[in-house]
Amino acid sequence: MEIITTTSEMRRLRAALPGSVAFVPTMGFLHEGHLALMREGLRRCDHLVVSIFVNPTQFGPGEDIEKYPRDPEGDAQKCRELGCDFLFTPTVDQIYSPDHSTVISVKGLGNTLCGSSRPGHFDGVTTVVTKFFSILSPDVAVFGQKDYQQLAIVRRMVRDLNLPVEIADIPTVREHDGLAMSSRNRYLDDEQRAQATVISRALLTAHRAYQGESLRKPSALIERARAIIEADSEGRIDYLQLVDPHTMFPVVQAPGEEDGALLATAVFFDGTRLIDNIRLDQPLPKALLGARSVACQS
Ligand code: AMP
Repeated sequence: MEIITTTSEMRRLRAALPGSVAFVPTMGFLHEGHLALMREGLRRCDHLVVSIFVNPTQFGPGEDIEKYPRDPEGDAQKCRELGCDFLFTPTVDQIYSPDHSTVISVKGLGNTLCGSSRPGHFDGVTTVVTKFFSILSPDVAVFGQKDYQQLAIVRRMVRDLNLPVEIADIPTVREHDGLAMSSRNRYLDDEQRAQATVISRALLTAHRAYQGESLRKPSALIERARAIIEADSEGRIDYLQLVDPHTMFPVVQAPGEEDGALLATAVFFDGTRLIDNIRLDQPLPKALLGARSVACQS
């Protein structure tokens, strides 16, 4: 595996690659969720390029980008072991000119959930993803369902701009107790880590109500989940919403048979903001089947 730090070198090496190329964009501090994306990329393509870039334009003024966890050596080791061809780790000045003034912005889909909590966040994501697509010309790019809104926005952007890349996705990879893996989990102290399982338990409870009791009233489903988070943790709910998984707009009436229903949440544990989601209209994901039995035992 080669580690590439300049855009020009990355472009040159990619152009020389025979066969298909999968791309996995990340911000590093890699965990099993990232590795699952990489495996999916390798399953689909001949070559794999992973980027690690803590993108300044997707962080708001109050969000401390300097504190974002980093582990360059550990990350490189993981990518090497997995069979990655190139690890692309550009510096900020390789990606943004000092007077950069072009922004890719997907309208509508980013107005809710993380988009309303973090103004400008998704413009930063779509702009940097477009830049990487331009540098790497991947055949396939793999994203995680954990960032469901991001995935929907990237898909819409690719469709709207006729970008020649296929967007693939994988289900959320979780710890054994259900907590969605995230680089930010490392900020949690032991007490917060224990409490953070309320997030997946709350989603599971709503899923059970939707599937088992045929509960459809959006406010009732949200209340079921909210009650668990508020009773069993000191987490502060940033948002907890039932949205249409295609538009990301809040679902206000009971979803019908044909409608999707995505329950999405962001919860703060002190300064650490964790996100998670579940499709209520689909079977329970495998990663939560195990968590269900852990939750029942405790
Ligand atoms: P990040 O490094 O957090 O920006 O995430 C990079 C990619 O990894 C995004 O496509 C995320 O959706 C994906 N990802 C992060 N955590 C997980 C997880 N637990 N399971 C699956 N994909 C994930």
